Amino acid sequence: MTDRDFQDRLLLLIPTTSYRVADFLNAAHRLGVDVAVGSNQRQVLEAFADGRTVTINFQDLEKGVREICAYARDYPLSAVLGVDEETTVLASKASKALGLAHNTPESVEATANKFRFRTVLANSGLLMPPFSLLSVGDDPARAAREAAYPCVLKPLMLSASRGVIRADNPDEFITAFHRITRILKQPDVVTMGDAAKHILVEGYIAGREVALEGLLDGGRLTVLALFDKPDPLEGPFFEETIYVTPSRLPESWQSRVMDATVQAVAALGLRDGPIHAELRLNDQGPWVIEVGARSIGGLCARALRFGTGISLEELILSHVLGLPIETMAREEKAAGVMMIPIPQAGVLESVGGIEAARRVAGIDDVTITIPVGQEVVPLPEGNKYLGFIFARGDSPEAVEEALRDSHHCLRFQIDPGAEAE
Ligand code: ADP
Ligand code: CA
Ligand code: CA
Repeated sequence: MTDRDFQDRLLLLIPTTSYRVADFLNAAHRLGVDVAVGSNQRQVLEAFADGRTVTINFQDLEKGVREICAYARDYPLSAVLGVDEETTVLASKASKALGLAHNTPESVEATANKFRFRTVLANSGLLMPPFSLLSVGDDPARAAREAAYPCVLKPLMLSASRGVIRADNPDEFITAFHRITRILKQPDVVTMGDAAKHILVEGYIAGREVALEGLLDGGRLTVLALFDKPDPLEGPFFEETIYVTPSRLPESWQSRVMDATVQAVAALGLRDGPIHAELRLNDQGPWVIEVGARSIGGLCARALRFGTGISLEELILSHVLGLPIETMAREEKAAGVMMIPIPQAGVLESVGGIEAARRVAGIDDVTITIPVGQEVVPLPEGNKYLGFIFARGDSPEAVEEALRDSHHCLRFQIDPGAEAE
């Protein structure tokens, strides 16, 4: 460490939709790092009445950068970190403006826009589905006639599979196009500017899916965890459910996944910080679905522990601040998480069976993240989960079984006719 006339201070950029405020703040406290929270919503900030907070414009990136720079003049910053996808581009732009270590804004932008992503990767030598871009104003009939099937239609900048729809024929294509167009008009999406005016179409890639959680340091990738997704994800909507690590894939496939991820990361130009990559595997090899310049979303990171109990958030903060990292080796046990899907639209009336779900052998925790009385929206329009189930065990099989058993204990009563409170 070089001499510093101030203690390390970190600015976390936290979108309203983030589940992870508490986990990042806990990590900062454990590391003894002074942390400030930046958000675009006062409600988020009011939760930290005693902490340092600052309101930042997340929509207008140039304005956001100016606000962060102004804040840094009063409170010098050692790092600016975007939590979740919505803030990674702003974090890299602000870090650049402040002369702090960062991925280039271009590389991060390519992870935050699915058309840019496909375009950048097109000449990387990686397996790539055919892809094309439509405007919401287009007549989809012609594109539907010309498309190869099956294909997947998706928004450019949403997450959690929101608006991602498989189409097997022209009729389904046109229906999906209109359904996504309606999603792109929703208030939280329409503000995304140009990205909310387009729909990406890509060839459907058959095969099982995995997720690779990694940390880049000067361009070198350390795999923190490789997750299998044992539930089939065949559409028409792509509901995430169970993630289990270590992967049950043969070693040879695991290294192919790692190689493809390294190749994608190099083509994107990412060099530092967390990455979350999703790949599909079939006879032709590994296909990269997505690479995020961020760590795993939701509360899923709670499934991971490193060394003697270090959290993923602590690893990420240590890396960005240049603090020593004792180990990046995940604990010995198998671990997993289930994102509890929303089975139907309506108002969540009650949740039963939580205690029984927690008592299932191997279950570490069951957390319901949607309050009773709130409206719940399933895919493809929704982007939330009912909650998360965490398990650890001696084998990935045992973990998967515990997650399924625990989920079966839960009873969600959703009133389809009720108005939200
Ligand atoms: P998001 O950013 O919302 O997670 P993704 O592009 O990662 O959007 O798509 C969500 C899920 O949809 C993926 O995890 C995968 O299961 C499925 N999916 C997306 N694109 C394809 C594709 N081209 N072929 C097959 N499945 C796909
Ligand atoms: Ca994504
Ligand atoms: Ca994804």
